[in-house]
Amino acid sequence: MSGIVAGKLAFVSGAASGIGRATCQVLAREGAVVIGADKNKKGAQETIENISKLHQNNHFSVEISVSDSKSVQNVLQQIMQQYKKPPSIVINCAGITRDNFLLKLSEEDFNEVIDVNLKGTFLVVQTFAKALVDSGINSGSFVNMASIIGKIGNMGQTNYAASKAGVELFTKSAAKEFGKFGIRCNSVLPGFILTPMTETIPDKVKMKLLSTIACNRYGKPEEVAEVIAFLASDKSSYVNGASIEVTGGM
Ligand code: NAP
Repeated sequence: MSGIVAGKLAFVSGAASGIGRATCQVLAREGAVVIGADKNKKGAQETIENISKLHQNNHFSVEISVSDSKSVQNVLQQIMQQYKKPPSIVINCAGITRDNFLLKLSEEDFNEVIDVNLKGTFLVVQTFAKALVDSGINSGSFVNMASIIGKIGNMGQTNYAASKAGVELFTKSAAKEFGKFGIRCNSVLPGFILTPMTETIPDKVKMKLLSTIACNRYGKPEEVAEVIAFLASDKSSYVNGASIEVTGGM
């Protein structure tokens, strides 16, 4: 199998939908063996079934709750059983929004967004990096989904913006620690991408956002996935601790 990640084992969270699903498709096209993980087990299964039809390989789907350390450990064990090694590519696409104006935002909605987006990234990165180091595999590429909102802020998204700003600087710091193990860590900052996550945004808000995008259109999940695949591959061997904006010039 040829491609920029040929023969590599890749773990993708959020694989049931949007950017995570597109990332599974691009990584499989580029020759990786893909482990698609999501809270939505059926959706992850669908993703893996579809890529397996196009790009036969030993792909695998698994249920995960990224904010639950036991679930993350359990998934690592299943992967070790199936492949006898941890993945060297780890992509964190699982994420949620619970939007509300700050004066109305509940503690529960604040906590849930931090738990999934920030703590979930921490748990997956720590667990999989430890497995790589323990296995003596001196190479890896981790890519975390931050957001342009974590840089510029947004009304109604204080919880989300804080979680994504956290992911970006978590990633830069992890890169500084993991360089000596040959593990690169980068974050991707998408702008407005058409996925189920953005589907519920009212049309009025969408139109206003469109006027801020230089390309004058919303992004497609594949356009983020292509950048993720580049970061996952050895083509980006000297890109580390970086935050790559994929916003169409927002
Ligand atoms: P999406 O279509 O909603 O996909 C996210 C997936 O993550 C869903 O399948 C979701 O399952 C799953 N998930 C949620 N909580 C989880 C958990 N605790 N454990 C495991 N999986 C979980 O979203 P997307 O637009 O593709 O976004 C992917 C990533 O990019 C997110 O981190 C998002 O914040 C980030 N991002 C997106 C945009 C955008 O414009 N779309 C912009 C900037 C950043 P359920 O559907 O069952 O919740």
